[in-house]
Amino acid sequence: MRPSFLPRLVNGPLFDPVVYVRILNERKALLFDCGHFEGLAPRELLSLEAVCISHTHMDHFMGLDRVLRAILHRDKPLTVYGPEGITGKALSKLQSYTWNLASGYGLEITICEILHDSMHITRTRADAGFAETHRSTMPREGTRVSADSRYTLDAVILEHTVPCLAYVLKEPFHLNILKNAFAGRGYLPGAWVGTLKEHIFAGRMDELIPVDTHTGIKEVRVSQLREELVTTTPGQSLAFVTDIACSRENLAALQGPAHGADMLFIEAYYLHELKDHAGARGHLTARQAGMIAGMLDAGQVVPMHISPRYHDRLDEIRAEVDAAWRGASEPGGSMG
Ligand SMILES: [Zn+2]
Ligand SMILES: [Zn+2]
Repeated sequence: MRPSFLPRLVNGPLFDPVVYVRILNERKALLFDCGHFEGLAPRELLSLEAVCISHTHMDHFMGLDRVLRAILHRDKPLTVYGPEGITGKALSKLQSYTWNLASGYGLEITICEILHDSMHITRTRADAGFAETHRSTMPREGTRVSADSRYTLDAVILEHTVPCLAYVLKEPFHLNILKNAFAGRGYLPGAWVGTLKEHIFAGRMDELIPVDTHTGIKEVRVSQLREELVTTTPGQSLAFVTDIACSRENLAALQGPAHGADMLFIEAYYLHELKDHAGARGHLTARQAGMIAGMLDAGQVVPMHISPRYHDRLDEIRAEVDAAWRGASEPGGSMG
């Protein structure tokens, strides 16, 4: 299966945890946390449609300035998701610069502050000096914060001495194009395949689209092409979990939305030898990260945000994560 989400752990497993996810065939991307980072090109930042902040400790939030600098002149809006308090903190960051020459800038930023039973939505614009232009509150049930034709985004409120969000990005379903069914019907590969996918994702089954064929361009209905050429399989899912205590409440909250993630990005801040220290600071040890991956039945686990004190012991961190991951998926495996 050709993946639809192309994730990249921008800083690698050490340093601030930053995950950039490109949505294939669309000029769209999401960023999960933005502490200090260097490794994203301006064109990658320009594709960002949302920045998902876990919490506002500096190592997860300072890079929002860098994103802003890169996208300031674009018209496409940006959404910033974050936990309780994000509205005030993002606005004060945005308003801390001088905007007297920004009257022609069309950038709009929507800040979504995610609380247990509601979401505060605040809009602000560059040409208004990032003053608030609109504020509303909508009730929230469950963990869903956004849905469009290509992905859904869930946010789970967890505890890290402060509220901290874990995120789950899911593809509603995955489309597989049966290329070997082209020849018998006279279809030729071409850009129309992308158009077909877009229409199916958007549910526009009655549209006619121009299809390249051996006898020239032919108009064919989306519903017919779907029947002839497309199968669907469960969509891809990614989970981003960082800076959380290994508490019963946190694990229970993660279990539903993050279960079965194909790829789990998870902090492994300390080796388990420092589990008391980790607990006091609301962090996970590598063993706990591995056990959580097992509990969630993750397809792949990517440890990240490893404490500077272990930067020369990365192999030990990885080994501890893997041993606990394997142990947790065996009968009798237990949390510790
Ligand atoms: Zn933190
Ligand atoms: Zn951190």
